[in-house]
Amino acid sequence: MPELPQMQALSERLGTVLTGAVLEGIEPLGFSALKTVTPAPESLLGHPVLGVSRRAKYLVLDFGEPGRLLLHLSQAGRLYLEDPPKRTRAKGSVVRLRFAGAPAVLVREYGTERKAAWWVLAPGDDGPLERLGPEPASDEFAELVLRGDDRRRVHTLLRDQRTVSGVGRGYADDALWRAQLSPYASLASLDDEARARLLDAVRAVLRDGLERERGRTGGLSQPKLGEHFEVHARSGTPCPRCEETLRRVSYESHEVTYCPNCQTGGKVLADRRMSRLVK
Ligand SMILES: [Zn+2]
Repeated sequence: MPELPQMQALSERLGTVLTGAVLEGIEPLGFSALKTVTPAPESLLGHPVLGVSRRAKYLVLDFGEPGRLLLHLSQAGRLYLEDPPKRTRAKGSVVRLRFAGAPAVLVREYGTERKAAWWVLAPGDDGPLERLGPEPASDEFAELVLRGDDRRRVHTLLRDQRTVSGVGRGYADDALWRAQLSPYASLASLDDEARARLLDAVRAVLRDGLERERGRTGGLSQPKLGEHFEVHARSGTPCPRCEETLRRVSYESHEVTYCPNCQTGGKVLADRRMSRLVK
């Protein structure tokens, strides 16, 4: 799933090719992917893109007076830059935006749930952005980590977009590993030193991820994004810090990867999927 670093770098690449380009066509290709009724998407036609930015995991194309267009790739949405633009309707197509003198943008969906979506918002309407928590780089997030009394597990609250926006399961795993904290640790249970370590770790994994993502070119088009996580999705391989074998805990929708030596004082956490397989 694309997280803050992928989406930030993608917004920068889109800004480079689309800023100043006039929108001349919108092809809604996917069923129910457009989440707004008014303003009509056509109201953006004939207007230039003033800039492309990112908020949380949303891409924001700003058209100024007629409003903004938001794109969210969700779990398995991908974005293609088509130069020259195509007329085809590939499987899983969500929407195609055509611009004068710039590549077209095609969003495609490779997943089956929590699908990629788009919104057209009038000026002043924040739509889905309204419910989002602060960005990880903000003072508000620092305050929450250093002094908050949230009793949920850190892994859970990092992935909750209403608490902090832009972090998903990949960077949550890597941040906890970097901070040497258990994936089961609750924020309220952490002392000042651990909280400071956690804040640094979250920001550092996102910063490193962004630096790597800025080396990518074009859209965000490979079904496998080829992220270079330190521990996420690497259970069974050696911990990059201590060489102990990384373990995982599996949930319905995701799995958590951790190092028992670096993060849980040698304790291997129960994994329901593993025990089911053993039976
Ligand atoms: Zn380790």
